Amino acid sequence: MSARPDTGGDAVARPIDIGLIDRVTDDGSLGPRRAVGASLQPTLAELSVPGRRTDQVPHPPADALAGIPDDLLRSSAPALPELSEPQVMRHFTNLSHLNHSIDGGFYPLGSCTMKHNPRVNETAARLPGFARLHPLAPDTLAQGTLELLWELQGMLSEVAGMAATTLQPAAGAHGELTGILVIRAYHRARGDVDRDEVIVPDSSHGTNPATASMAGFRTVTIPSAPDGGVDLEALRGALGPRTAAVMITNPSTLGLFERRIVEVLEATHAAGALAYMDGANMNAIMGRFRPGAASFDVMHLNLHKTFSTPHGGGGPGAGPVAVAAHLVPFLPAPLVVRETDGTFRLERDGERPGSIGRVRAYQGSVGVLVRAYAYIRTHGGPGLCRVTDDAVLAANYLRQRVGEAWDLPYAGPCKHEFVASGARLRRETGVRTLDVAKRLIDHGYHPPTVYFPLIVEECLLIEPTETETLADLDAFAEALLAVAREAHEQPELLHEAPLTTPVRRLDEATAARRPELRWRPMTGAETPCPQ
Ligand SMILES: *Cc1c(COP(=O)(O)O)cnc(C)c1O
Repeated sequence: MSARPDTGGDAVARPIDIGLIDRVTDDGSLGPRRAVGASLQPTLAELSVPGRRTDQVPHPPADALAGIPDDLLRSSAPALPELSEPQVMRHFTNLSHLNHSIDGGFYPLGSCTMKHNPRVNETAARLPGFARLHPLAPDTLAQGTLELLWELQGMLSEVAGMAATTLQPAAGAHGELTGILVIRAYHRARGDVDRDEVIVPDSSHGTNPATASMAGFRTVTIPSAPDGGVDLEALRGALGPRTAAVMITNPSTLGLFERRIVEVLEATHAAGALAYMDGANMNAIMGRFRPGAASFDVMHLNLHKTFSTPHGGGGPGAGPVAVAAHLVPFLPAPLVVRETDGTFRLERDGERPGSIGRVRAYQGSVGVLVRAYAYIRTHGGPGLCRVTDDAVLAANYLRQRVGEAWDLPYAGPCKHEFVASGARLRRETGVRTLDVAKRLIDHGYHPPTVYFPLIVEECLLIEPTETETLADLDAFAEALLAVAREAHEQPELLHEAPLTTPVRRLDEATAARRPELRWRPMTGAETPCPQ
């Protein structure tokens, strides 16, 4: 977040009709109806009162600090905020209400699969046998967890149509890096050391080229065909003895199934390269298309997308990587294996000498893996197919409705998400997609993904997921159509939006380039961090 958020100031100083709330008062406060949250919260440091306590150590022994060497003792007290417990509770609870969440409302953030996280997942993850297991517990004391992880490796391999799966990577991006390192190890093991390029289509997620460069490859970007799919001629032109891998997202970030997938895979393999599938969009094809069976060599699965575990928020996700048989020797170690007597253990050091090694401590985000396991178990195979079918149905329905007012640059039908373009709206009204996104917040919605994929002008990428009801889809469609009408009738309203939030538009460039991550000044006697 940038320096001090813009709390409104100039934009709300004069009363303007913002459609949703009665009026903006002279002092800048808003009328009674608010779409989001209450108001900005003071920081804990600002709430601090010297001497205020939540709790204290009862009767600390007089020599409590005696065992600590002098040079490790503080010379003055830390500058921590001093608060009562209710203050702390209210602070964090109120802050949490300022965030839009999937528990609070529809969240059509394209490419992110913001679906409901079933509570049975949470119940499973909180079982003490999983939640309290020490990560260094010996295998003999961790049989239940190891069995679950072993089964999950198998289930995800089946969904992927692959031979084996590592559960270690912490996110999709981390899975990509793992997968590309596996591909690098494969080529090197065959003495095929001149392959230093990775091909990605121009519709790819930014993590694809980032992964390629982090793994030491040069990224070769190829343009998409007019229908949104891979341009075969461009692909064939780019492929060669230096190509290590082609990264394909299927369905693509445009929400389209790759119709020329057979040709893409044949051309890739004919050039001696391997095919990486970015599996972020599995919610559209799970149970209906198995990438391994189509001859993809490696893919990742974002458990926080398709498999309904919570999205990070800085916390853990999971991006397991599944590979075909010829890549199993290179997978990160240790995998969970089953002995012939039915017990489970982690692979031993050096057991698979070609392994690229660990990519994460312990067994990855085990709490997240338990949640995904619970999700798969509650649905079963037919249930997962149904998830996919319903996600595709919801997206096509919404696409049809939104198409009444928005341009749909690619001919239907779509998979689990679709792109709409605000290019015409911008030409006719001067309203940009960014304004539309901000205005949707006033209507009570988290905006869709905007300006991605990069190849669609004034792009909106909309993904409703299967967990929304028909009424929810209709209500969102109405909101988007209402915003299109507002753009024609009151474009200035959209330039000002959002008008109902405690924070208005942030300076995004400054927030990204010079983030101010610490509150200052400190309230205590010293400032422990240098400026
Ligand atoms: C989300 C996404 C990623 C990155 O996954 P994370 O789990 O967010 O790291 C990569 N590719 C596509 C197409 C995605 O939608």
